Amino acid sequence: MTPVIALVGRPNVGKSTLFNQMTRTRDALVADFAGLTRDRKYGEGQYEGQRFIVIDTGGLTGDEEGIDAEMARQSMLAVEEADIVLFLVDGRAGLTSGDELIANQLRRTGKPAHLVVNKTDGQDPDVAASEFYQLGFESVYLIAASHNRGIRSMLEDLLPAA
Ligand code: GDP
Ligand code: MG
Repeated sequence: MTPVIALVGRPNVGKSTLFNQMTRTRDALVADFAGLTRDRKYGEGQYEGQRFIVIDTGGLTGDEEGIDAEMARQSMLAVEEADIVLFLVDGRAGLTSGDELIANQLRRTGKPAHLVVNKTDGQDPDVAASEFYQLGFESVYLIAASHNRGIRSMLEDLLPAA
């Protein structure tokens, strides 16, 4: 069976950039505007012969109202559809209260989620990641999506051997 990977997290943490790297397309909209992708977007990727489906979402703010509520709904639908949930955070911005709220929301779903600290470029990745460990995720991946760094080893770890 083809595993389904959902990308969730606050707007602007780099979900669409990671989606593009994982699918090697320019399909997902990458923008400097928070929350531009308002519904789910599906793509197909491959790692070492193992195919997977990846779902990009508009992002959760942790405090959902109006359009945020629709983005949150789409994100939670993506989580339900997924075999693997990747919760992205911004290693430059540091830990935010929104991240904590989303972490709690994900915990309530009972789905195993992995924490992905993005934007670790230009700083010590371990320092960038340190404050996120308190979110209590068992597996933490350090990546720089826009530099295609850390993604292959993350996929190698996540995907069953082909
Ligand atoms: P999304 O809202 O979560 O989908 O975030 P985007 O993928 O649209 O990215 C938001 C911004 O972060 C864009 O300006 C990206 O170029 C930038 N970005 C994404 N990944 C990285 C990264 O690894 N390092 C840095 N420095 N910037 C990144
Ligand atoms: Mg996006």
